[in-house]
Amino acid sequence: MDKLKLGIDIHGVIDQNPIFEQLARSGLFEVHIVTGIKEELDDVVDFPYDKWFSIHQECENRGVAIQYDDKSRPWVDPEIWDRMKAEYCEKEGIHIMIDDSPSYGQYFEGLSTAYLRYENTQRTNWRKDGKYKESE
Ligand SMILES: [Mg+2]
Repeated sequence: MDKLKLGIDIHGVIDQNPIFEQLARSGLFEVHIVTGIKEELDDVVDFPYDKWFSIHQECENRGVAIQYDDKSRPWVDPEIWDRMKAEYCEKEGIHIMIDDSPSYGQYFEGLSTAYLRYENTQRTNWRKDGKYKESE
């Protein structure tokens, strides 16, 4: 049997609990990093994975209008941004997607991907406290 495909978010998931790295390293899954940040800008993921999907990169690829704030963080219409993880998971046939966002789950309705929302009780407000790495 082929490996199950696992999608994992970085911010609020991988960067908050080492259990997700263990899961990715288990060898049980084909591992897809499914995140906002571009692959070359990330300094969190330090383990092998099979594919990387960046919403930011995908927006660039599609020519979607992107605005940048004073810290160079991308902003895209949520109507476009928030559905891209679901679109990727559908296209790739991801079996399980682990994410902490309350915004993305609605777009998984009707898909075969199981969207597991990680409720991170330790997470700080990383977008506001400057810990978001995309700007660096
Ligand atoms: Mg997240």
